[in-house]
Amino acid sequence: MTTVKLQARPKPGDTFTLPNGKRVEVRDIGVPYVLPPAAVCDDPLCPWHGHLKIRLKLLEVTVEKVRMHKAAVVTHEWVHYIRKYNRYERRRRRMRVRVPECIEVKPGDKVIIAETRPLSKTISWVVIGKKEDVTEWTAKHEVLGT
Ligand SMILES: [Zn+2]
Repeated sequence: MTTVKLQARPKPGDTFTLPNGKRVEVRDIGVPYVLPPAAVCDDPLCPWHGHLKIRLKLLEVTVEKVRMHKAAVVTHEWVHYIRKYNRYERRRRRMRVRVPECIEVKPGDKVIIAETRPLSKTISWVVIGKKEDVTEWTAKHEVLGT
């Protein structure tokens, strides 16, 4: 598996040749607010450079642990409204997500994750970018709040 850091941020549709001779195209993942990472990888399960399709269920979460191989534990926090008491309660959920090779995360980072098909017993979400890669978008936290 190879990852190459780029000087500038690529656009969807750009093609790059890795040192091992593989040609990698930056795909359009269908989320115009999230910019592609400034690196190219040949990870087949990467939403940008592989063939992993994402579903348009997006969350903004905080990275908690990165001890697994190409995966991380993230915390999703949201507020849930309780009508009887006319107040909000905080809810939090820990999730395991896949981290493609071109995106480096460390604990404390805010990242955007998208739902995918189940990749393993506990992983069905993938990191598509960091908070600083996002333009003109705010997360809707009601998505899981049922
Ligand atoms: Zn990639």
